[in-house]
Amino acid sequence: MSAVKKGEAMEQAIISQAPQLEKLIATTAHEKMPWYHGKISRQEGERRLYSGAQPDGKFLVRDREESGTFALSMMYGKTVYHYQILQDKSGKYSMPEGTKFDTIWQLVEYLKMKADGLVTNLGEACVNGKTAGKTPSLPATRRPGTNGYTPPPRAPSVLKPDVPTDREVLPMDSDVFNPYHNPNEVRKFNIQRTQLLIDELELGSGNFGCVKKGTLTTESGQVDVAIKVLKSDNEKLVQDEMMREAEIMHQLSNPFIVRMLGLCKAENLMLVMEMASAGPLNKFLSTKKDTVTTENIVNLMHQVSMGMKYLEEKNFVHRDLAARNVLLVNQQFAKISDFGLSKALGADDNYYKARTAGKWPLKWYAPECINYHKFSSKSDVWSFGITMWEAFSYGGKPYRKMKGPDVMRFIDSGSRMECPPACPERMYEVMKECWTYKHEERPDFKKVAEYMKSYHYSISNKAKPEEAAAAAAAEPIK
Ligand code: ADP
Ligand code: MG
Repeated sequence: MSAVKKGEAMEQAIISQAPQLEKLIATTAHEKMPWYHGKISRQEGERRLYSGAQPDGKFLVRDREESGTFALSMMYGKTVYHYQILQDKSGKYSMPEGTKFDTIWQLVEYLKMKADGLVTNLGEACVNGKTAGKTPSLPATRRPGTNGYTPPPRAPSVLKPDVPTDREVLPMDSDVFNPYHNPNEVRKFNIQRTQLLIDELELGSGNFGCVKKGTLTTESGQVDVAIKVLKSDNEKLVQDEMMREAEIMHQLSNPFIVRMLGLCKAENLMLVMEMASAGPLNKFLSTKKDTVTTENIVNLMHQVSMGMKYLEEKNFVHRDLAARNVLLVNQQFAKISDFGLSKALGADDNYYKARTAGKWPLKWYAPECINYHKFSSKSDVWSFGITMWEAFSYGGKPYRKMKGPDVMRFIDSGSRMECPPACPERMYEVMKECWTYKHEERPDFKKVAEYMKSYHYSISNKAKPEEAAAAAAAEPIK
């Protein structure tokens, strides 16, 4: 093959990849846009919008602190309005009930033309001093071309210096192009080592290393954090596992789920989470038998059911729901943690199939997990039943001294654990529902959360408004 032919073949190969490459670039394109201000607070966003002229539609996009989502702030009638940009489980961005887009940058382009629920269309950008001048001119419209791809207009400012002028521009000519960049990787959350103070105090430990107490310094002040520190001698595989755990947590935002605040790559890989200082539910209950009422436990398990309902809605399976993985912020506020085994299900899947059995918490697993390696929100419901049993037994061990295979026979024969002494009959009824053998007949978390809510309210004599809602309201919402 001649050199020319070879070059052409190569180019053809590259062009056939163009749509994918284009998407890769576009995913991060907003980072170089003048209207993108990175991680700034709502107040700072307002300050920037109010400085200088204040035409209607002047806008900026910022990372919402802690939650990993984006917010849009815009000026209208000399007032700043804030909108959360929603991201669905497939990663698409939109305004509430608006049109969905693959990238923030496309959404913004669209909102310039159509208000889609905003007070007005987006107008001029509130320019971020740091990125101004670096705006890449990426494809603004897609016109049909080779394989549906039309190169972007030339924008010398973002092109690498050695791009020949006698051919059309390709994605890799742009200096924002990085084919090795995974658009899904956790990157909004990089915490600098200097922002972290790590205590000697160990909150817990596992195979991966240990969890330490610490303090994180951010623009808005200092917060107590729990830091999962990966042992430095751990191989790549364990590191990948922790990255996967971070990726899952990154996508979750609910008051009853432990929030991930970020990842710090320093002497060790560290997963930084909000602190749940009263620790695991089973330990808490076993040491505080005398001060914790049944009503208190109902409240906590109601919260866990709400967290799980959220997870079910987002199509995530936890796979390790157990009292040891429910952490308490305080005696009245529970959060689900430990997403080490969790999986995000595909849009059309309702279960995850494990190829091989691992180190599994068998006593918490539904029959279909053990027999067919099938994990779904319904199998999490089974685990929720076991977790309830643990809670109402004040941290007791399920199935006492039985071994895994004994438990399987026990369940297959139709037997179930008995009602713990202090447990209300209606709560035991819920447990038994959760332990319905066939997952098709088992209630989902929507149903379970309803059961928990109605019982919780029925025993809250003081017609208290939702304690859980109060707990949720206490959450920092930015
Ligand atoms: P493992 O995968 O080893 O079970 P976990 O995520 O469950 O890891 O964490 C292990 C222990 O570390 C927990 O049992 C708890 O004691 C402590 N821990 C983990 N996360 C937090 C947190 N956010 N706040 C307080 N303690 C925590
Ligand atoms: Mg755990």
